[in-house]
Formats: sequence, structure tokens, C-alpha cells
Amino acid sequence: MIDADRFRHDLQAQLEGEVRFDAVTRALYSTDASVYRILPIGVVVPKSRTDVVRIVTLCAQYRCPLTMRGGGTSQAGQAIGSGLVADTSKFFNRLLEVNVAQRWARAEPGIVLDELNAALKPHGLRFAPDISTASRATVGGMMANNSSGARSILYGKTIDHVIEQEVVLSDGSVVRCGPLSGTELDQVCEGDSLEARCYRTVRRLACEHVSEIERRYPKVLRRVGGYNLDAFVPDRPFNLAKLIVGSEGTLGVVLEAKLALVPLPHAKAVLAIQFETLLEALDATPAIIAHTPSAVELMDRFILDHTRQSATLDRLRNTFIEGDPEALLCVEFYADRAEDLPARLDALEADLRARRFGYRYHRATEPAAQAAVWSLREAALGLSMAMKGDAKSLSFVEDTAVAPERLRDYIERFVAMIREHGSEAGVYAHASVGCLHVRPVVNLKTETGVRQFESIAQASADLVLEFGGALSGEHGDGLVRSPFMEQMFGPVLYDAFRQVKRTFDPDNIFNPGKIVDSPPLTANLRYGPSYRTQQPETFFDYASYGGIAGAVEMCSGLGVCRKTVDGTMCPSYMVTREEAHSTRG
Ligand SMILES: Cc1cc2nc3c(=O)[nH]c(=O)nc-3n(C[C@H](O)[C@H](O)[C@H](O)COP(=O)(O)OP(=O)(O)OC[C@H]3O[C@@H](n4cnc5c(N)ncnc54)[C@H](O)[C@@H]3O)c2cc1C
Ligand code: SF4
Repeated sequence: MIDADRFRHDLQAQLEGEVRFDAVTRALYSTDASVYRILPIGVVVPKSRTDVVRIVTLCAQYRCPLTMRGGGTSQAGQAIGSGLVADTSKFFNRLLEVNVAQRWARAEPGIVLDELNAALKPHGLRFAPDISTASRATVGGMMANNSSGARSILYGKTIDHVIEQEVVLSDGSVVRCGPLSGTELDQVCEGDSLEARCYRTVRRLACEHVSEIERRYPKVLRRVGGYNLDAFVPDRPFNLAKLIVGSEGTLGVVLEAKLALVPLPHAKAVLAIQFETLLEALDATPAIIAHTPSAVELMDRFILDHTRQSATLDRLRNTFIEGDPEALLCVEFYADRAEDLPARLDALEADLRARRFGYRYHRATEPAAQAAVWSLREAALGLSMAMKGDAKSLSFVEDTAVAPERLRDYIERFVAMIREHGSEAGVYAHASVGCLHVRPVVNLKTETGVRQFESIAQASADLVLEFGGALSGEHGDGLVRSPFMEQMFGPVLYDAFRQVKRTFDPDNIFNPGKIVDSPPLTANLRYGPSYRTQQPETFFDYASYGGIAGAVEMCSGLGVCRKTVDGTMCPSYMVTREEAHSTRG
């Protein structure tokens, strides 16, 4: 049992940043964008790297779990924990150095992706992974989740763009993780420091399990679950940062990172294609990929229908969508010269017409027209999740990925499975890499709903593994997918993951219960059958939302209200960077 008063006192004595153990702050940080809720002991807001090292040391001393946090936009529950939560987004967010000639930048983990890219834009550069939550997600969160975006067919995942990290290990030592030559690796493996033990363990496990890694890691571009032992098989350059990436804060705390940058594209064009059926759109996807697009993004009718709820979005959709297609694919091309783009659009359209794929092809060649397409795509997801009533569109099987050639058959089975379980769902996202977000509508406030949640989660895991895919293509394991890690990777690799965790973090301080040794799937649900909605009296009439509590429960924690770079949302948050001053807070 942790003595919370003494712990708080020691933190206050040693940190320059903020220490908050009050009930309101703890409640604010008890949720992220997942279906879970865990009340932390307290929250710290570090100001410097010294603060972060002291936080790790004190957590180790008190045996207190530590969950790092950026924007808190994780959908799997990995940004919440029962111990101390450390928020890097307010202060620990500086861009430290940019090397334009060599195309890299060094940054602290709390920097928001849009802010980083705004600073890089004058140099004609950007950090490539382009996640939908770029307006509020941090680079620290992206690295820990190994995030990727709509253009991952071109740029891959965050792991492909992290050159080096400085990491605090569980004993408080600070190590640099970067590319090592064979001799350097031999040297760092010597001795009895924690760092040496970590290197030795990773090298040994990757060697011992080469064939199991080859057999069990899905052959898809989008797999972020488990630990990245596949990045350490012999003959690959050894860089321990590739293991820290994707480890969801369970192996160490990142103090800063050196990130590879890419040039901004010179010219872009979009073709928005309407389809009679969802399966036709998925059938067309491999043919579209052959035209080497930078993105192929899908929205189905369920998602598109939600854009009708807002007059602004309705106007936006009418600029490029006619009627009510069952599915829409937005295909984007990058080119060095704008004059090369029309021929590529022509070729794609001709190919699709010849194969009888699609019935309407809308070209967006101007930046404003392209922005309309991408804004609608981003807003549609939020609207489809913000449902009135107790049954909600939930993130729990929302992130599976299969090879694009198998996507059509997979989604046909997936949608049928969801219907068999008495639910429905929209289908949305990254067709280019076989990673589609499907969020079944479930009422977790009932026992029946909780059972439905469990059985859909299990059926989804069985199905995606049957198709040789991954349970998580970008959102990570957290609390919602970690229970399936052994099923996905098999007992041998699961045991190897445990050895990794125990070597790096013998006292299980760093974000416990994520990736290995997780609690049961339905532990810690935010709204479970025992949840009772408080319905305070209000002056205004919220009846159409089911009262003010109903309006509050429409928030699924996506964090749009934490954006800082542009837009009109939450000016108070923009100034104070306080979670309490965002609408989510
Ligand atoms: C609407 C919506 C759309 C999304 N779209 C995408 C998408 O397109 N692509 C995608 O990949 N993801 C997407 N996500 C998921 C999420 O936004 C990303 O994973 C994002 O990178 C998380 O960043 P964050 O700052 O919010 O991290 P958080 O949620 O705060 O934390 C994520 C993880 O990082 C760990 N962490 C944070 N800082 C550190 C540190 N310094 N050291 C060690 N560990 C640390 C945390 O402990 C946690 O495990 C989406 C989420 C939502 C809600
Ligand atoms: S308050 Fe609104 S914008 Fe903020 S997280 Fe909730 S739903 Fe998103």
C-alpha cells in the first residue's frame, strides 16, 4: 500500500513541475479515448527532464505504477493507470533542434504533432506519420503507440522515423538508444548495468526465436501489437529505440527523440469515388493500390450518414458527394510536379471504369477542395461515435488489419459476425493498408451489453487471426487488446514478451497491465452495469440529449477540444493547456 501523503510530499519537494492529488484532477486523468476508467493516485506535470527522472526514481522507490501521458487520445486504455499519471503535454513539449540539411529534428515527447509540423513547414519538412489526431496527439504518444496515418502506404509507421531516443530506465538511469554497429552492441552488452541486461535479453530473445517471429508476426504493414522483437532478428541494424517504440510506456520513459523528417509533397490531387456497395469498394482497393497512391481512405454509408447531422458538414459533403453512396474511397496522389497529376487521375479512372468499379469519380485538384474531403473524413468519425442514448459506437475491435487483397472477404465476414451478435457498425479508414476501423454499437450499461462486448471481441480476434492479420493496426494494445496477446503471438513469444518486460522493469512500475499480464477485458469499464448516471437539474433544456448527463456521455474522449494550432475550439485550453479547461475536462 502506497502512503499517498508521503509520496505527494516527496514529489512536491523534488519537482519543479506541478503535483496534484486532488479528487478533480484524478478524475480528469482517469479516462482517455477508450471504454475504460482507472482513477490514478495522483497526477504530475513535469517541467523538465530532471523532473521526469525524479518521477521515475520516486515511483521506483514507492513501488508506484507510472503511466506517462500526452494528449490522452489512446483508444485502447494505455494512457490511464492506477498509480501516478505524468502529463508531458503542458510543459515538456519543446522542439530542441532542427537539422534541415540532414532532415532530422530533436524534440521533447510532449510536443503535439501539428505544432511540430508547423515549426518544420518553413523548412519544407514534416514528421511523416500523419495521424488523424495530429491536432492534439503528442510525439511521445505516437512513439509509444507506434502510430501511423492515412499515408502509411508511403511512409510506414512511427518506428520507421525514429532515429534515436533518450530513455529513463526503471532504475532511474538515462540511456541513449540509437543505431549500433556490431562492435558497439557487443560493448553495450557487457557488464551488469540494467542497460546491459536489457540489450542482452533483447539480442538473445530475437536470436532464439527467429523462426517463431517469422511464423507468428502477421505479414501486414500495419501491426503494432506486442513488442517489436521482429525489429531485432539477426542481420537487421540493432537499435533499441525500435523496441521502446510501440511499447506503450511499459519499458521506459522517453525524455527526447531524434526524428527523421520528410520533404513536404510538391503537388497533390484527390479522386473521390462513389460505390454501390461497401464490398465493391473493397474489391476495387487492390487495383487502386497498383496506381501507387499516397492514401486510399474509406467511409461507408453508416459513417457518411452521420455527416447529415451537421449543416456545415452537409454543405461540405455536397461539394463532392452526390446522393447517398454505400461507400466512398478517397484516393490521393503525390507528385513532384502538378502537371503529372491529371494523367495519373485519368489512368486510375479509366482503369476503374474498365473494371466496372464505382459509379462517380470526383476530382479535387485545388487545395481547398482537397481540404473539404479530408475535413469531412475527420469529422465524420467523431460524429458517428457521438451517439445519443446508452448504446454507443465503441472502440474495442476497431483496429484490426489484414492484407489489402483479403480485405473484402474479411470485412464481409466481420460485418456478418457483428450482425450475428445483434449489433451494427460503420466501416471507415485506411483501405490502402487493410486497416479498417469498425466500431460496433453496444450498451455497456447492461449485463447483456458487456457479454456482447466480450463475445464480439473474441470473435474478432479469432477472425483476424484466421485471415493472417493483426489485432491492432495503429491504436495499440492497452487494456482492450492485451488480453489477446497470447492468442495472437502464441505462448513462446508471449513468454518472450514477459521476459522483456521483467528485464526492463523488474518491479512492474511502467504502465503495468498493458501488452503483458493485463487485467480481464471487462475490468475497469468506464460505464459498466453498475454505473448510475447522475442527472443534475439544469436551467436549459437538454431533453433531446437525454438530459445533461446524456449530453456529457456523448463525449468519447477523442480530445478534439485539446487542439492548439488552429480552429475555434476551447480558447481557454489553448491558453492554459489545462485538461480541466478543455471541454473533455
Ligand atoms: C478520433 C481518433 C483518431 C485517431 N486516429 C489515429 C490515426 O489516424 N492513427 C493512429 O496511429 N492513431 C490514431 N489514434 C490513436 C491516438 O491518437 C494515437 O495513438 C496518438 O499517437 C496518441 O498520442 P497521445 O499524445 O494522445 O498519447 P496518449 O494517449 O497520451 O499516450 C499514448 C501512450 O504513450 C505513452 N507515453 C506518452 N508519453 C510517453 C513518454 N514520454 N514515454 C513513454 N511512454 C509515453 C502513454 O503511457 C500511453 O501508453 C486516434 C485516436 C482517436 C481518438
Ligand atoms: S468534449 Fe467534445 S471535442 Fe472534447 S473530447 Fe469530448 S467529444 Fe471530443
